[in-house]
Amino acid sequence: MDALELLPRVKLLPDQLINRIAAGEVVERPSAVLKELVENSLDAGADRLDIEVSDGGKKLIMVRDNGHGMDEDNLLMCLERHATSKIGGEADLGRIQTLGFRGEALPSIGAVSDLAITSAVEGGEGHKVTLAAGRLLGLAPVASNRGTTVEVRNLFYNVPARRKFLKSDRTESAHLLEVAQSYALSREGLRLTFRENGREVLAVEGRHDFQTRVFKVLGRGVAEGLTPLAWEREGLSVSGWLGAPDRPLASPARLFVYVLGRPVRDRLLNRALAEGYGRLLPRGTWPAAIIFLDLDPAEVDVNVHPAKAEVRFRRPSAIFSALADAVAGAVGRAPQPASPWAARPPDEAARPPWLDYPKSEPKSGPEPEAGNPPGPDEADRAPSNTREISPAAPPGPAPLAETAPSTNFEPLRPLAQLYNSYILAEGSRGLYLVDQHAAHERVLFNKLKQELARSGLASQTLLLPEPLDLPPRQARAAEKMRPHLARLGFELEPFGEGGDFLLRGVPAILGHEDPLPPLMEILGAGQDHAAALDGAGLKEALEALADSWLYSLACRAAIKAGEKMDLKAMGRLLEDMAQEPRGAYCPHGRPAIQLIERVTIERRFARKP
Ligand code: ADP
Ligand code: MG
Repeated sequence: MDALELLPRVKLLPDQLINRIAAGEVVERPSAVLKELVENSLDAGADRLDIEVSDGGKKLIMVRDNGHGMDEDNLLMCLERHATSKIGGEADLGRIQTLGFRGEALPSIGAVSDLAITSAVEGGEGHKVTLAAGRLLGLAPVASNRGTTVEVRNLFYNVPARRKFLKSDRTESAHLLEVAQSYALSREGLRLTFRENGREVLAVEGRHDFQTRVFKVLGRGVAEGLTPLAWEREGLSVSGWLGAPDRPLASPARLFVYVLGRPVRDRLLNRALAEGYGRLLPRGTWPAAIIFLDLDPAEVDVNVHPAKAEVRFRRPSAIFSALADAVAGAVGRAPQPASPWAARPPDEAARPPWLDYPKSEPKSGPEPEAGNPPGPDEADRAPSNTREISPAAPPGPAPLAETAPSTNFEPLRPLAQLYNSYILAEGSRGLYLVDQHAAHERVLFNKLKQELARSGLASQTLLLPEPLDLPPRQARAAEKMRPHLARLGFELEPFGEGGDFLLRGVPAILGHEDPLPPLMEILGAGQDHAAALDGAGLKEALEALADSWLYSLACRAAIKAGEKMDLKAMGRLLEDMAQEPRGAYCPHGRPAIQLIERVTIERRFARKP
């Protein structure tokens, strides 16, 4: 068979498939363009990539590869929106093996730049196609070796608003380099060079082994302290290299995580890794590491983010514990069966007093779903036994509110914690079961609402302000919402040009929870209300949103199911709860408390008729 017959055909995706692909902007900045081009080259089977950028990618981004190339038909077709050679049918979405699959990158890039693509297949004639702001200028035969060269010039020249929001050349260059670094580390056997304004900044050879690669990409300091990581269980493999904990960094910038060969930035995975290092790593710092997660593609959804920078796991907590365990083992710590969410001792000073439900001991033991509670058999047996003894007993407990007003219930005495998730408490009316997370969430939500109305939420100043690198739209939302964010405890300070911010303070209530997810949620909601933010309706829009922001903060700060509480802490929570209007329900309306009436208990034991 000759090479042409093997060449994958670029075809338009059917409409129903287009609708299932995560929508959104593909190219927000130069580094996103570079990422798409490199992915295309790797998908074309290239093992040699030469990258050139100038002026932070604003003037030029060029990628040359030695992949299978495109013939004349594919070259024209690849410029169509939703045209791809990588997936064809619905079923393919569930098992994506290539880096690309959306068929949107080239047309999106072409629409906002001067684009030229030169390509040739093995033994075929080369062609070059040129576009200006999406308009086809020409297609002509040219001499070319097998492979493809894509040149993107004058990015966003026809979209001044976008161009204005690009950061300085230095910042954009740093992001471009990071993309090149992450692919240079992504696989062995790949030759990759990166030139910036004519100067070679990075080069790895195909023959370089992994440690040499790390040395070339991240420097001697990192390469010398590497510990190998190899862990495998039940179809999940965690491998790679861990940097020494004695050279920690203030940000996770040198943490490279690949899921099925795809570089991802995932806070959950970063935290799992830090968790694995445990106390070897100073709080708030990050190691250098290169981690490869390989698992059944059906366990991972890559179709969740327009730029494919995020993935979603079907079983995130299993992945979290696996990664934390694997890392702990590799750095010589005993694997920690602890729940992932209580990595470090709480910093008591920073926490508002009413948040303080001290835990009796550091969390240990498996999470409740991991087998702590009685097995399904036992759980099934218990109630049926009861029914045997007292067949006339009324059915199970009803939510408290069905039998009592939802506010100011009687004083309760905590007895014990069930499955590390529920508080058992005694009252004169019967046995109470309290969902600790729902109850705490309700208490926190009400306190936050009062605090916000009074003076705004207390903010905890960060020792090291964290630079926020927000995408342009979030940056615009942040600019408009700064005073409102400050009332919620998020202190943002603009710095540099073009919408950079330093995060100086976070809501004290968050304690050691990661402040970025709620901040991003709030900015996301603000962005959705951009029209109101621009106009006179700003105040109303923000007021309407405030409740949902407070839910989100309360939910994150509240004690989780699976966290151990001692009797004192349980007593405090019950007291606080009793004082809350609507304390019997969590802010989402789920019941927080259940009552099994004393008379029911007595009937079941045949003490009462
Ligand atoms: P996607 O990668 O999602 O398929 P793109 O817009 O990035 O969408 O590319 C469209 C198609 O163009 C690809 O499916 C591929 O067939 C072809 N293509 C793009 N870049 C290259 C390349 N460097 N080498 C060979 N073919 C390419
Ligand atoms: Mg692509």
